[in-house]
Amino acid sequence: QAKQGGSNQCSYFTYAMNEQAQHRYQLEQALRQACASDEFELYYQPKVHLRTGRMVGTEALLRWNRPGHGVVSPAEFIPLLEQTGMIREVGAWVIEQACRQIARWAQDEAGPLPVAVNVASPQFSDSTLVDTVAAALQRHQIDPALLSLEVTETALMEDLARTAATLSTLWSMGVRIAIDDFGTGYSSLAYLRRFPVDTLKIDIAFIRELPNNADDAAVVRAIIAMAHSLKLKVVAEGVESADQLAYLGEHGCDLIQGYYFSRPIPADMMTQLMRQDARLAYLPAGAGERL
Ligand code: C2E
Ligand code: MG
Ligand code: MG
Ligand code: MG
Repeated sequence: QAKQGGSNQCSYFTYAMNEQAQHRYQLEQALRQACASDEFELYYQPKVHLRTGRMVGTEALLRWNRPGHGVVSPAEFIPLLEQTGMIREVGAWVIEQACRQIARWAQDEAGPLPVAVNVASPQFSDSTLVDTVAAALQRHQIDPALLSLEVTETALMEDLARTAATLSTLWSMGVRIAIDDFGTGYSSLAYLRRFPVDTLKIDIAFIRELPNNADDAAVVRAIIAMAHSLKLKVVAEGVESADQLAYLGEHGCDLIQGYYFSRPIPADMMTQLMRQDARLAYLPAGAGERL
């Protein structure tokens, strides 16, 4: 089709391709620079226990303070880190940084606070993940149960045998494991039961239109019910409204994460939040513990 429009369109097409390739190249160079110059930072988003409104954990989310660009979201650079393999190096930094923070919070009057770290599928392609985690736990002398790893359902299914073996090793070290973005892949819950996992995180796509979208609501109820029958905890991601919260509360969701309570924030702000002992302002009807 590019050819049909004559040489102009054809060269425009080529030009656009070059531009895209160039953009990608520049981004890649900038990312290599970022590793070397300390431009990455972990933000933290609270995980809140729905029945009590208490913050019971937090997820570490990578941010890139790119010079001249402000704070860049991971959606824009994680895919490239994965494609280039750089995610292994950056991922190791994330684990080290998160463990250092766990140790700090364990010393704090308001601590300890469990931290979850996202792990991408290329990080499972060699044995370094286990070594990295073991070394970080050892170096910072932290309780392994304070560290949790989030693996997406899709990554899990990509290379089942290897991922399962690695997760089992990590699990036996006492680290917690969660399945992230659950419901978008094609695994069955019964199947997942064979993995060492303690938590399912319902993908934000099913939360967005709650409670009005009847299909999404049905999926959410089904995930919660089946997860509980398999003794797994359930986290809803991306909770932004009181209506969503109320619905999730009614159906027994364990934890929520979302802008409704807090956006991801820098570590020192998280420390402040912990010390304030902030609670979820709204408790749904039937919430067990009154505050
Ligand atoms: P994720 O692990 O599923 O993280 C949840 C994402 O939802 C985060 O986006 C978070 O900021 C966003 N979020 C939380 N609450 C709400 C809400 O109420 N509304 C909306 N619209 N969004 C909400 P973020 O921080 O941009 O991260 C995107 C993805 O990038 C993460 O999805 C994760 O897959 C990946 N990622 C982030 N940090 C890391 C990391 O250190 N390593 C790896 N491998 N991946 C990471
Ligand atoms: Mg996650
Ligand atoms: Mg997720
Ligand atoms: Mg996601």
